[in-house]
Amino acid sequence: MSPSEKPPSLTPLFTRDEIALRVRALGDAINRDYAGQTLTAIGILKGSFLFLADLVRVLNIPVAIDFIQTSSYGDATESSGEVRILRDFEGSLAGRHVLLVEDIIDTGLTLNYLWDLIEARRPASVAIAAMFVKEGKQRLNHPIRYAGFALVGDPFIVGYGMDYRGLYRNLDHVAALELEETR
Ligand code: 5GP
Repeated sequence: MSPSEKPPSLTPLFTRDEIALRVRALGDAINRDYAGQTLTAIGILKGSFLFLADLVRVLNIPVAIDFIQTSSYGDATESSGEVRILRDFEGSLAGRHVLLVEDIIDTGLTLNYLWDLIEARRPASVAIAAMFVKEGKQRLNHPIRYAGFALVGDPFIVGYGMDYRGLYRNLDHVAALELEETR
């Protein structure tokens, strides 16, 4: 941010405690659904790093952890619809139960792309966990088995792993960000 630029305004939406309770509920459901099995959780970087870290610590089943990194919007707040893999996961997914862990689903285009990429590697199953889901613009072709919170009204949110221009990922809560020029 240049010194002359006004900082964006942040409106708190979800507290640290609300997020922790919801993550616990999602983890409980995953423990039940995958009891007796081994899970491979794949975090989609960078935004999912805190959600993944919290979620896997609620799990009491064996879990392997990996990451995949897709291109972000750059500095824009709208999806370009183009998905680029910046870092692929390691090893084989054949016969594994894969859980794709996403911070937020907006259009769903990122996950449509990743789902196909993973299916091609012959896993035993694929499921999606997303902490936040924007309603309205969804073009996701697959079910969201574990969804944290629904967002209405298309806010741009930051915190709990999610950024704006590389900042705010470290917030322990989630806030709606309003840019100066849109106010
Ligand atoms: P989709 O492909 O579903 O449109 O976009 C998913 C990705 O866009 C998310 O992983 C996240 O990186 C980014 N994104 C979508 N909505 C938001 C938002 O409100 N805030 C932030 N920080 N990132 C978002």
